[in-house]
Amino acid sequence: MRRDRIHIVGGGIIGLCAAWYLNSEGCEVTIIDENDISDGTSFGNAGMIVPSHFVPMAAPGVISQGLKWMLNSKSPFYIKPRMNADLIQWLWYFFRSSNSIHVTKSAPVLYRLNEESKWLYKSMQEQNGFNFGLDERGLLMLYKTTKQANEEEELAIKAHRMGVEAHILDSKALQELEPEMDYNVKGGIYFPGDAHLCPNLLMKQLCNQLRKSGVKFLCHSKIVDFEIKNETINSLILDDQTAFSVENVLLTSGSWTGLLLKKIGIKIHLQDGKGYSITSNEPEFCPRIPTILSEAKVAITPMDNHLRVGGTLELSGLSEKINKHRVKGILDSIPDYYNNLKINMDDHTKVWRGFRPCTPDGLPYIGKSDKLNNLYVGTGHGMMGLSLGAVTGKLLSEIITDQKPMLSVQPFRMGRF
Ligand SMILES: Cc1cc2nc3c(=O)[nH]c(=O)nc-3n(C[C@H](O)[C@H](O)[C@H](O)COP(=O)(O)OP(=O)(O)OC[C@H]3O[C@@H](n4cnc5c(N)ncnc54)[C@H](O)[C@@H]3O)c2cc1C
Repeated sequence: MRRDRIHIVGGGIIGLCAAWYLNSEGCEVTIIDENDISDGTSFGNAGMIVPSHFVPMAAPGVISQGLKWMLNSKSPFYIKPRMNADLIQWLWYFFRSSNSIHVTKSAPVLYRLNEESKWLYKSMQEQNGFNFGLDERGLLMLYKTTKQANEEEELAIKAHRMGVEAHILDSKALQELEPEMDYNVKGGIYFPGDAHLCPNLLMKQLCNQLRKSGVKFLCHSKIVDFEIKNETINSLILDDQTAFSVENVLLTSGSWTGLLLKKIGIKIHLQDGKGYSITSNEPEFCPRIPTILSEAKVAITPMDNHLRVGGTLELSGLSEKINKHRVKGILDSIPDYYNNLKINMDDHTKVWRGFRPCTPDGLPYIGKSDKLNNLYVGTGHGMMGLSLGAVTGKLLSEIITDQKPMLSVQPFRMGRF
């Protein structure tokens, strides 16, 4: 059975990519967003497409490191202390998932998802109306300490075993790869199979192309509730209490998806991982290859004649507040790794913030609800939502139009906890 009319709640990268593939299947798609789809989480991120990121956030050692970071106001990780049942449950499932069995099971799944997504973005970029700077220059992970060097080298060995190309580079080899940069590091790992793109261009071009193909957009429209009859959503209710009827609903509302699902009695485990980025004009000496400063957990991406620097993960309950200490922590880490990279920031520099929708096991939720007949969900992509956008959109379109998904979505079911 084809399911021709779909309302998508949330016009981030997941919602737009789902709309793209559903539209190409001939479905009638409407995207509803409470904002104007111009500056949300899917815009200001670091733009990395990361088959190298096959280790989920929930991994051995993460909890002890996280506890140490909690004591440092400039560190890349923070949980706002609060007695909140959802947060406590999330932390419990995170703790239970942080083991090597989970990592071994999830690694090939995450790798395959990221690889497929990269290929889908490549074919999207070849189509008319798209040029979002997709570039396969790889990814560099820099480290300063022996402890981090050991961890990253272990990762490179795991990568080899999975067939992922990874090169361990000493400082001389690093210099050959990036001759302009003057490093102050022990070494790095180079993953040539990774890529990057400019998320702002991708999002803008997707909106334009979708509009041209007849997809309708309802912006500044916040969904606050649902009308349900016979285990089917009949209507969506807006914040001015108007209701409109729907046939199928796809929730791709990022970090807010859990709140919407709560309204219909469906529980998912999701926390918002707030992060910051600063985009500056290209500095005099600029890395050519997207880079992660491993100990500092800072991402640096050359993008559309600019340089974007991003980092931190704060579980702060969807607070919009920008923590200046942590932003300073991001910027202060740069001269620790480079002798000649300078990012100028004054009081007028715009600090962007976004909310990564994080699940406790680091795998997304993708699929059909087993409680309601016409509800589908795509969220929880955490630090990899941009990277996994295309493949998630494709999978959702296959599920919604009753085709066999290109990959098994069993690991991503909503009721897995
Ligand atoms: C600093 C930083 C760097 C990052 N770097 C990378 C990276 O390099 N690579 C990568 O893959 N990922 C990266 N990410 C993660 C990535 O940005 C996210 O995973 C991704 O953007 C999430 O997309 P989404 O579509 O799920 O959610 P969003 O982009 O948040 O979209 C959700 C949309 O739903 C709308 N919405 C919510 N509630 C409602 C409602 N009730 N009614 C109507 N509309 C609603 C919102 O307005 C929003 O537009 C980074 C994130 C941050 C913060």
